[in-house]
Amino acid sequence: MKTNVLIAGCGCAGLYCALNLPKNLNVTIITKSDEESSDSFLAQGGMCVQRDDEDFECFLEDTMRAGHYENDKKSVELMIENSRDVLADLVSFGAEFNKNEDGTLAYTREGAHSQKRIVFREDATGKEITLTLLKESKKRSNIQILEYTTLLDIIEKDEKCIGAVIRTKDGEVETVEADYTVLATGGVGGIYEHSTNFRHLTADAIAISARHNIKLRDITYVQIHPTTFYSNEDRSFLISESVRGEGAVLRDKNGNRFTNELSPRDVLTKAIKEQMKKDGTEFVWEDLTTIDNKTLNEHFPNILAHCKENGYDATREWIPVVPAQHYFMGGVWVNYESKTSLDKLYAVGETACNGVHGKNRLASNSLLESLVFSKRAAKDIEKNYEFENSYGEYIKTLGLEEYKDAEKLEEEYKNIAKNIIREGNK
Ligand SMILES: Cc1cc2nc3c(=O)[nH]c(=O)nc-3n(C[C@H](O)[C@H](O)[C@H](O)COP(=O)(O)OP(=O)(O)OC[C@H]3O[C@@H](n4cnc5c(N)ncnc54)[C@H](O)[C@@H]3O)c2cc1C
Repeated sequence: MKTNVLIAGCGCAGLYCALNLPKNLNVTIITKSDEESSDSFLAQGGMCVQRDDEDFECFLEDTMRAGHYENDKKSVELMIENSRDVLADLVSFGAEFNKNEDGTLAYTREGAHSQKRIVFREDATGKEITLTLLKESKKRSNIQILEYTTLLDIIEKDEKCIGAVIRTKDGEVETVEADYTVLATGGVGGIYEHSTNFRHLTADAIAISARHNIKLRDITYVQIHPTTFYSNEDRSFLISESVRGEGAVLRDKNGNRFTNELSPRDVLTKAIKEQMKKDGTEFVWEDLTTIDNKTLNEHFPNILAHCKENGYDATREWIPVVPAQHYFMGGVWVNYESKTSLDKLYAVGETACNGVHGKNRLASNSLLESLVFSKRAAKDIEKNYEFENSYGEYIKTLGLEEYKDAEKLEEEYKNIAKNIIREGNK
């Protein structure tokens, strides 16, 4: 197969990158699962935006403080500066966000935000955004999405990326020749036993990049979310931070509050784990009954429904919560235009690391970061576009035997990623 731009991943980062590429380019998006199975669909709380001019410094400070000041300040500035532009794009594509009675946008807040600056659509903001992007992509004749098609490797030649090896829906191993390749494969939760992420997000781009000596950054920085619903489901269900932002409190086994519920995620996770150890329990309680029923029903209908399905009426009783792996701050090193250390290869979204989050991500910054920097990738590709025509014959000579055993390869990639994330890239 031959395409102008190959994008691996169909979450908000991959889709928005595709939508920002020129319409005369042939863009192929591949996704390991079906097109709606991405973490972008799961995002509950919302997306941060700069509220007004005064908010710039405050938003910057909140992000840097949550990131232990290890953030790349310029990346943070770029994210904030471009936030209203991204929001305007989403609205122009038809995305709808909750509004106040007077018709203005409603804002909510989550932990470590010093003011309300998060736009949301009930507790299913990611679904609203990503479905909108997906629908918009379907209107573009230059964009095709191939479901159940997995990126197995990139093809490197003359110090640049010239395409990829993929497994198709039918299980065939094939090559794709591409002028540009974009890694948008999301987070790493699939390599953890307990995670809020989709299980098929197994850090493939991290393993592939490591094998090609592509630069990685902040690779050991993994975020544990303090509050996921305690159960033995395959994927941990998130109890969004915005529930605490609206007033929910945490209680120990005796029903006493034991911490500040709006601390940054890493601080709160530590407090919960310590409390569980002290109490000899496998969870702590989250009390949503402190929030009035109208707000609960209007803002968090999916969370209430999930609790109900699992035997808890959260409007009347406390629910058990426990920390679980949630987000990956590190990733494939990229510059401010989302370009990796290998020519013609970009990385966007959770799989990339431009340093915006530092050591700990501020809640609701990841949808925004994914969108701002995937648009920057698209604009950079457009600006520097070079058509390649010379590698077809070379690609035909490649041996594909090593990719044929799907299970063995996935296991190998998982182990590479686990070792790097646990021990750093030595
Ligand atoms: C439960 C939950 C709640 C969240 N809530 C919020 C929130 O309120 N606000 C916020 O800002 N962020 C939130 N996040 C984080 C945010 O959703 C993600 O960081 C963001 O959506 C990442 O987007 P992405 O496009 O990079 O990855 P994803 O949306 O995860 O997409 C990854 C894509 O890559 C594909 N893929 C993976 N491997 C391969 C491969 N080898 N070959 C081909 N395709 C592959 C997948 O199939 C998928 O299509 C939440 C995350 C979770 C899990």
